[in-house]
Amino acid sequence: MARQKGSCHCGAIKFEFSAPVIENGLRCNCSICQRKGAIMSAFTVASDELIITATTGALSTYEFGSNAAKHHFCSKCGIYPFHQSMSAPGYYRINLGCVEGLNSSLLPFEVYDGASI
Ligand SMILES: [Zn+2]
Repeated sequence: MARQKGSCHCGAIKFEFSAPVIENGLRCNCSICQRKGAIMSAFTVASDELIITATTGALSTYEFGSNAAKHHFCSKCGIYPFHQSMSAPGYYRINLGCVEGLNSSLLPFEVYDGASI
């Protein structure tokens, strides 16, 4: 497990978590992920293991449908840093593009068929 740090684009939201070496990612074809186009972590992070530091008002949340998933974004720069999973409430997937020192565009990824749920 390695300590990882990440942030949104403007830095109003910073976060830290421990993860195995990140060698792959996950994309999803649901209505929101298709629009975001982000490469997410294939692993999830428990809510008590994701340390979030955000300036007041920066961490915003978008919900739709069953409202089970919490899609977080920065109210200042608009970037999606992580979301609470619909399939595993209380667990987060991370936008790997926000992780420090990681070139997420080079990672192989699988596509989760969220559109069929
Ligand atoms: Zn921001």
